[in-house]
Order: sequence, then C-alpha cells, then structure tokens
Amino acid sequence: MRKYKNPYTGRIFCADCGSPMFSTSNPKRPDGYVCGSYHRRGLSSGCTSHHIHRKRLDEEVKEFICQVRDSLKNEISDYSVSGSKKRVEDNKKKIERLEKDAEEYKKRLVDIARAKLEETVADPENKEIINETYKRLENEFRNKLKLAESQMVFLEEDSDKRRQIKKNIESILEIFDKILKKKEFSQEDISLIVEKITVSEDKIVTLYLKNSIRELEAVVSG
Ligand SMILES: [Zn+2]
Repeated sequence: MRKYKNPYTGRIFCADCGSPMFSTSNPKRPDGYVCGSYHRRGLSSGCTSHHIHRKRLDEEVKEFICQVRDSLKNEISDYSVSGSKKRVEDNKKKIERLEKDAEEYKKRLVDIARAKLEETVADPENKEIINETYKRLENEFRNKLKLAESQMVFLEEDSDKRRQIKKNIESILEIFDKILKKKEFSQEDISLIVEKITVSEDKIVTLYLKNSIRELEAVVSG
C-alpha cells in the first residue's frame, strides 16, 4: 500500500537544497511532497517547503511521457525510413555478394587440391616441389575466404544491432502507451521513465529522462 501511495519517493528532490523530498499524507489534505530539510528543521534549515501536490506531479509526468513518446515515434520513423532501413538493405546486398565470392573461393580451393593431387599422382617423386608451387595459391584463396566470412559476420551483427534498437524503441513505446492509460502511476512506472524529478521554490517541476531511454534516443536521432 505504501509503495503505491508514494510513487515518487526516492526520485524527487528539492531543486534548491538537493535534499530528497518527503511524502506527506494527511486525511485532510491531498497527498504531496515537501523538501526533506524543511520537513525536519523548518525554516532554520535554510530551505522552504516546496510543497507540491501528487496530482500535479502525475500531470507533469503524463505530459512528459507524451512528449518523449512523440519524439521517439518521430525519430524511429525517420530512422526506419532513412538511416537504418537502407543500411540493413545495403548490408543484405553486400552479404549476398560476399556469399557468392566465398562460394567461388571454395571452388577454387577444391580445384587447386584436385590439380595438386593429379600432379602428385603423375609425378610422385616431385611431391614436395608440387606442394610448394600450390601453397601460395592455396593460401591466397584461404585468406580471401576468411576475410569474406569475417565481413559477413560483421555485416550481420551490424544489421542485428539496428533491428534491435528499433525493437527496443517499439517496446518502450508500447510500455508508454500502457502507462498513459493508467489512472495512477506506480513507483515502477515512474522508475521506468524518470531518472529524477526536482521541484523549485516556485513549483517548477523538472523531469529528467531515464538514462537508458536517453541513450536509445541519442542513437536514433543520430
Ligand atoms: Zn530544500
């Protein structure tokens, strides 16, 4: 019950003295928060009440989530249209080309092995010279094959990463929509989105976006 009653506890701070704000609940007054220093020591703390209603915070958080959601939605659609989608398609084409190259290199290696074997059978005494002759050629195609294979792995990983970012943002957007439909936010809802909230003396509420979401946003906004 307590948890549900104080969804902002631990995340809300006085903008002026930095102290955590204290939740006040009183049957006669609506739920709210006051500066922790002021709550303990009154005006002698050097700070003032900074009292803010829980309802007002809910409204601010709601608006904040809407803003972040809309900006993420815009960015993810730009990202899908321009940057990421094109990159994933380019990667796919490159991988297809590399696959063909790799097949070719493998064929060449089979051919080389066959030629080497035929020559060795025909002239067993010169086996070492024959081996030496083909060694350089074999190494060349083996290295080409290895390079093509590692490029394919790199491109696959790059595409996966881009698809993953898109998926992560889409799942965040789903969570936002779910939270926005609620009548009251829980501590868990707040902690998913908000890193910190500060309240100034003139009741200006500042919300700081969760770092993990900000990082995702930074990636897609490029
Ligand atoms: Zn204070």
